[in-house]
Parts: sequence; structure tokens; C-alpha cells
Amino acid sequence: MADKVREEYGSLVFSDAVMQERLPRPTYKELSKVIKEGLPLDLEIANEVAHAMKEWALEKGATHYTHWFQPLTGITSEKHDSFIAPKGDGTALMQFQGKELVQGEPDASSFPSGGLRATFEARGYTAWDPTSPAFIKDEVLCIPTAFVSYTGEALDKKTPFLRSCVALDREAKRVLAHFGKTPKSVSTTVGPEQEYFLVKEKDYAERPDLIMCGRTLFGAPPVKGQELEEHYFGAIRPTVNEFMKELDDELWKLGIPATTKHNEVAPCQHELAPIFEAASVAIDHNLLTMEEMKLIASHHGLVCLQHEKPFEYVNGSGKHDNWSLAADGQNLLDPSDSPEENLQFLVFLSCVIAAVDKHQDLMRVSVASAGNDHRLGANEAPPAIVSVFLGDDLMAVVEALINHDHDFVSPDREEMDLGVPQLANIMRDTTDRNRTSPFAFTGNKFEFRMCGSRQNLSDPNVVLNTAMAEMLSEYADTMEDVGEDEFVGQTLHWIRKTLREHERIIFNGNGYSAEWPKEAAERGLLNLRTTADALPYLVEPKNIEFFTRFGVLDEDEIRARYIAKAEQYAKLLHIEANTMVCMANHRYLPALMAYCTELAASISAKADLGVESPAERGRLDALNTGIQKIVAAADDLQKENDAADAMDDPVAECRVYADEVIPKMDVLRAAVDAMEPLCGVDWWPVPTYNDILFYI
Ligand code: ADP
Ligand code: MG
Repeated sequence: MADKVREEYGSLVFSDAVMQERLPRPTYKELSKVIKEGLPLDLEIANEVAHAMKEWALEKGATHYTHWFQPLTGITSEKHDSFIAPKGDGTALMQFQGKELVQGEPDASSFPSGGLRATFEARGYTAWDPTSPAFIKDEVLCIPTAFVSYTGEALDKKTPFLRSCVALDREAKRVLAHFGKTPKSVSTTVGPEQEYFLVKEKDYAERPDLIMCGRTLFGAPPVKGQELEEHYFGAIRPTVNEFMKELDDELWKLGIPATTKHNEVAPCQHELAPIFEAASVAIDHNLLTMEEMKLIASHHGLVCLQHEKPFEYVNGSGKHDNWSLAADGQNLLDPSDSPEENLQFLVFLSCVIAAVDKHQDLMRVSVASAGNDHRLGANEAPPAIVSVFLGDDLMAVVEALINHDHDFVSPDREEMDLGVPQLANIMRDTTDRNRTSPFAFTGNKFEFRMCGSRQNLSDPNVVLNTAMAEMLSEYADTMEDVGEDEFVGQTLHWIRKTLREHERIIFNGNGYSAEWPKEAAERGLLNLRTTADALPYLVEPKNIEFFTRFGVLDEDEIRARYIAKAEQYAKLLHIEANTMVCMANHRYLPALMAYCTELAASISAKADLGVESPAERGRLDALNTGIQKIVAAADDLQKENDAADAMDDPVAECRVYADEVIPKMDVLRAAVDAMEPLCGVDWWPVPTYNDILFYI
């Protein structure tokens, strides 16, 4: 088995190893430079790469190629073109040239653009991203690309992400130069932990809410939930195990280093974590993982739910963005043994703390979605307030820096002088974890835990990279004219000042507690509970200036994203409300009415015989009242939904959905759910939470 894995790992990837083997030496060297140092690509090189790629893909059985890209919908898109080039004599060649590798031209008009371009200039371009390797999926050679408009504006998630990588690389190199280092590249590393649910296809097929919206919009509480804590890390049921094995095999062929798999807290919830990689690759791999999960579930009679909140009453799903920075592969958030490295670590650490504090609003916006609104702040996921957890040991170091200008003595460990050796040992021992924190230091990386399970991780990483670039550039600017003998003193001074200014963002306590939102408010931290609350921050002048300054997004692009996000939120809720009204009218009401008819018949049959049946009568009355309530609530919701949908301004519409439509959805759900336990199982029209969540 191990041999098979070794043999098949990465077999569907046009990887560095394959390139080395198949490209002429000078071409390989040129391409490596393009990839590692972000240099521009020459068409001649592209032609050679395209040829090698095609030959390799044909050998692997591919017949088509596609530019694989990430429009603002968040999911991936592809249009397949064959390699066929008819010769005119009834035969055909298989052709693929440099220009086809480097650039594609899909019609962009049917992708969300937030109004960035009119339909008459709907042309969009996809451009090869050589930092993420091409791969074969279902006989198609997939080329990871960025997607931009005719005039060069970003229409996707990848373009701003790649731009943010450029800014981060530039500023981090300036900082490292002060420490005498000249790495070829500085990039971020990402290890996304992906949570998901698996349900039976049969149950899924009977739930229009799961089919249309990816989550249940109705459902009384199951008789048991997750309170026994028996599922987390529990033995994996056989069907799921088969799914996980096949998934691993397929991911490994795609060179995706899937490594950890386990049951999660909620019944039928699971998690997959890969080994971390360079962020651009990790993000692409995460998207591919999600796609493979859905496909492979279908081979096992299962459906993979990736929505942030498929079920009420049990936990929803998140995606942890484990994040660090690396200079030529060396982790910059890993405390080490030498004094200079410690000082450098503290500079980077201070930058992270300040970056998160300064841009809490954008961090929150980057994870805002209708689905994630159900999780954040619901005592199952971090609160909607952004804060940073450092843990006791690192906190002691930071406090010492903030409070004293002198050496620091750790309470229960050996003496330590800041900027000197023992920092590394202290941190390596750090085992305390705080699961309630949205942004936690975990030894040698940070873990951003507010991300939703379904989201594309580009958005939060754009914010993190750009915010980090800003702080790094601030430090580099400050140190510009500082002489060598003053370097350590001035750096410590800058670290102290920065930590003092941004101390308020550090919170090591329980993020689920009732006191925290109060304390956070006193500290002046934002608490943006819903997407509708968070979105407007995206277009604040300071944020437009911020993204523009680092060349990540210009004002038009930001405004377009703002509109696209608002539209997406409103459309999603419109569909959810529609689905609820439809299910109430087409399923629940007819079922309840049929059950009532049967009950009434029984009551009257008994009355004919002179038998009293007060219990049945009581049940009938309750069901009858329930039916009235459902009809009223469905009509009410329909009206509110129609009114919201008729609005022209997507941002205002978003607000109405959050404030008016969602409460009406809650009323309808409560009315239906209250009837579920009263109705006979043979009449109830859809599988219940008991059926869906607990299966063999
Ligand atoms: P947890 O205890 O939260 O499950 P793990 O230690 O298992 O955390 O790691 C979770 C993820 O963090 C894994 O995907 C791992 O590869 C990733 N990770 C580890 N180091 C780094 C790093 N330097 N940069 C980015 N991700 C990392
Ligand atoms: Mg984790």
C-alpha cells in the first residue's frame, strides 16, 4: 500500500519534478526563476512549457485542457477545449501552444462582476499562474489562472491575492535586509483545516432545502445532539472510512498532502487537514479538495455538505487558516535560539499583532457570508469580534516588553533577556490552546479560525498579506537611517511602541463568555455581528486607500467586490426564503392537513360509537392552530421576500434581508418545527434531524 501511495503521489501533477525531467535545462531554469522570483514570462519559454505539458497530459490520457479560475462566486470555473487541430484531410493533430497556456479568453459576462464592466465589453482574460502547478482532473489538463477584465481589472479571487503576495514579498525583504538577509522570496504558508458533513444521498434527495440551499431550513431538535461528546475523534464509521480512503488516494494523486482526518464535534461532521504549503498552492488545493469531496461522496451513496451551518442545534463547519510567513522556506514566526533571530521574530510578531488590530474590520469582512453569520458568535465558533490570542508564555514576553524597559524574568522558568536565547525554548513548550479565539498563536504560526467552511481562502489571506506588508513597510521605513550600533535599541523601541499601541487586540480569555463583548466594546474593538453590518467597512475611505497604496485592489475593484458580495448575500437569502415558503406550502401544510383529516375521522368515528377522545381532540386542536400559524407565517415571509427582492440597491437590500426577512424566516421555521413532534411519522414529508444526523 505504501509503495502504491509513493508511486501515485503527485502522478496527476505537472510538478517541479516532472518539469525538471521533461524541460530542456535552460527552459527549466528560466521557468523556476519565474515561479520562485515572480519574473515575467517569455513567450518562447511558454511555447516549450506548453509542448512538454501537452505531451505529458496526452500520456496521462487527457484530451482537453482548461484555464481553471476562481470568479467572485468563490467556487472554481472551467471551460474545456480539446487539443484537437484538424489537418483538413480528415485527420487531426493534438495541439497546445504557449499562447494558449499563457492566456485564455472566456466570456466574462455571466460571472458576477459587481458592475465592473458593461456587457458590451464583457471580454475577460485568464492568465496562467505559474506559481500553482497544472494538474489533470477527469481527463482534462487544468491550468490554474487569474481572471481579469479586458481593461485589466481583477474579476476573481486569485488576482488580488497574487498582488498581495507581491506587496508582502517586497516589504518583508526590506525588513530582512536590516537583519542582513537577502532571501530570494518571502511568501506566506497556509494549512487549511476543512470541516464538512456527510449525509446519506437518500435523505438529501428528500430535502429541497439541502438541495437548493445546502442547509436545512427546518427541523425540530433531534432527540440527541452532540452533548455526549461521543463523535469527536470517535471511531470512523465504515462507509465514511471508505469515503476518506478514496479521497486520500485521489488527493494524493493530485499532489495534495492530505494528512489528518477525524470525526468532528457534531454528528456526521468530519475534518480533513493537509500539510501546509505555499499559500497560493494551498488555496488552490483547498478548492480542489472541496470539489473532490463532493465527487467522491457520490461514489459512496453520500453527499458532502460544505455549508457553514447545515443543521441547527449542532455545530456548524469552519475552515481554519493556519498561516505563517517563510523566507526561502524558513518560517519567520518560529522562535529560534539566537538573539538576532529572536529580535527578528519579535519584529514579525509585533507586525502581525498591529496588522490584525489596524484591520479588524477587513478581517471580519473577509469572512462575512450569509452562511458564516450563523456560526460567528454562536458559542461554537469564535465571536464576531476579532482578537489575538498569544498564550501565557508569549504573553509574558509581550507584557514585559510593554511594561518594562528592562530585562525580563519569567516567573517559573529560567531567566531570560529579551532578544536572547531562551525565547525559543519557552515557546516550544507552549501547549495551551484557546479554541475560543479567532486568531491564535499556536507555536510557530497563527490560526485564523473565523473562516467559513465553504469560502475561498484568498479573501482572508489578501487582508492578512496586505496588512502585514503595511506594518513591515512601517518598520523598514523607521529603520532606514538607523546606524548599526543603534539597530538593536531602535528595534526594541519600535517593538515596544507598536505593542503598546495595539495591545487592545490581545485577548487570552474565553471568547465565548458573556463578559467579552462588553470588555471588547470598552477596548474599542469592533463587534460586527452580521454580513450586513460588516460589508460597509470594505468601502471606507481608509480601506480604499490601504488596498490602493499596496497595489492590491483599486477603488473600482473594491466597490465592485462590495456590490458583488451584497448581491450574493441578498440572492442567497432570497432563495432561502423562497425555498421555505415553497416547502411550507407544498410539503408541510399538505402533510399536516392530511394527518388532521385522519385524526378528525378517528374522532368522529369514536363519537359515533359514543366514545370520548379528549386527547385526540387536543392534538387536533394543536395541529389546527399550528396550520394557521404556518399559513400566516408563510404569507408574511413571502410578502417581505418579494418586497426585498424588488429593491434596486443591493446594499440596502442586504440590510432588509438581515433585519426584516431573516426574523420572518425564523417565525416560519418555529411554526413548522413545533408541529414535527406532533405529526405521525408516516405523514411527515421529509427526513428529520434524527434520521439525517444519525445513521450507520
Ligand atoms: P490543530 O491542533 O489546530 O489541529 P495542527 O498542529 O495539526 O493543528 O496543524 C494544523 C494545520 O496547520 C496543518 O495543516 C499544518 O500543516 C498547518 N501548519 C503547521 N505549520 C504551519 C506553518 N508554518 N504555516 C502554515 N500552516 C502550518
Ligand atoms: Mg487547528
